[in-house]
Amino acid sequence: MSHTLAFAAHSTTSPLVPFALDRREPGPRDVQIEILYCGVCHSDLHTVRDEWGGTVFPVVPGHEIVGKVTAVGSQVKKFKAGALAGVGCMVDSCRTCASCQEGLEQYCDVGGTIFTYNAPDKHSGGVTYGGYSNRIVVDEDFVLHISSKLDLAATAPLLCAGITTYSPLRHWKVGKGSKVGIVGLGGLGHMGVKFAHAFGAHTVLFTTSASKVADGKRLGADEVVISKDEAQMKQHLGSFDFILNTVAAPHNLDAFLTLLKRDGTMCLVGAPDSPHPSPQVFNLIFRRRALAGSLIGGIPETQEMLDFCAEHNITSDIELIPIQKINEAYERMLKSDVKYRFVIDIATLAAKS
Ligand code: NAP
Ligand code: ZN
Ligand code: ZN
Repeated sequence: MSHTLAFAAHSTTSPLVPFALDRREPGPRDVQIEILYCGVCHSDLHTVRDEWGGTVFPVVPGHEIVGKVTAVGSQVKKFKAGALAGVGCMVDSCRTCASCQEGLEQYCDVGGTIFTYNAPDKHSGGVTYGGYSNRIVVDEDFVLHISSKLDLAATAPLLCAGITTYSPLRHWKVGKGSKVGIVGLGGLGHMGVKFAHAFGAHTVLFTTSASKVADGKRLGADEVVISKDEAQMKQHLGSFDFILNTVAAPHNLDAFLTLLKRDGTMCLVGAPDSPHPSPQVFNLIFRRRALAGSLIGGIPETQEMLDFCAEHNITSDIELIPIQKINEAYERMLKSDVKYRFVIDIATLAAKS
């Protein structure tokens, strides 16, 4: 067992505080990673506040993990000590069902996906603990290669915000000639804008924050629409091939569904704590529009996305914070005041405060 420093929440109402845990010694197929940076996803906040139900306390969030390999098991082939490595939202799955065999471990058909935190840990018998900690041990099949070409701290958010936007944009074949909307300019949304632009789509950002218009354009949006402004919304009626909705709160979906063309799709990736008001069925049936959802992305596609980012020099726009500022960061995230992803400098875990 190796002693590991972490930050944990002990209840829905208490702040995250220092916490000590033990990681297993690496088994034959395991990679031990010294965590250097960990991104802060809105899902961390939903979990800490138990907004989806099922949180087991104490909870150590964090699933946008990058660091350095410190040890590997005897059968590990893909990683060596000293290499850069990443861990995203999953650390294991059943591996044998059709979805796992297709590299879609997040959709494991037998419910066998083991998420990086707050999931049953078959090794310890407890729950998994995430990346707000200075070490993690993960089976090599769920560890990603990280390029040294990119800024390491700004690479961390690719492990969730990156793959969660890359995967649906690829699945619905966004590219040259498509008109694509990204709803919400937060951690996920700003990666969605970067990818849609990089894939050659005409990219339109929908934001509720007038202060984000210039940033939206700088990040790659061809147009920015203030979604609360009905006149601006009307100009885009029936014109989109695909809309990726990253909003973390319940809202009126019809306002966006009516912007889709015939056969257009809106994919929800935002996961609010309570349901959206039901959309009007007529907005769907009269133009054969589809409302869909998507969960992160599988391990092979996550590696593909990381390689694409290294090749095209794509990272996240981040605010680096010491872990002692995590509670403040959550409050700012709730006010949509993140530009555009908080990343924790894990070296600060060792600071006495
Ligand atoms: P975030 O950084 O907080 O961004 C969410 C953005 O949504 C905000 O910046 C804001 O953008 C917009 N927004 C927030 N409240 C709103 C409201 N009431 N009405 C309209 N717009 C609002 O969060 P994130 O980390 O990107 O995560 C977004 C959501 O995706 C969360 O629910 C998270 O749990 C979920 N998620 C899902 C997956 C998946 O696999 N499906 C993976 C990761 C995260 P503007 O200021 O531009 O309006
Ligand atoms: Zn996430
Ligand atoms: Zn499976």
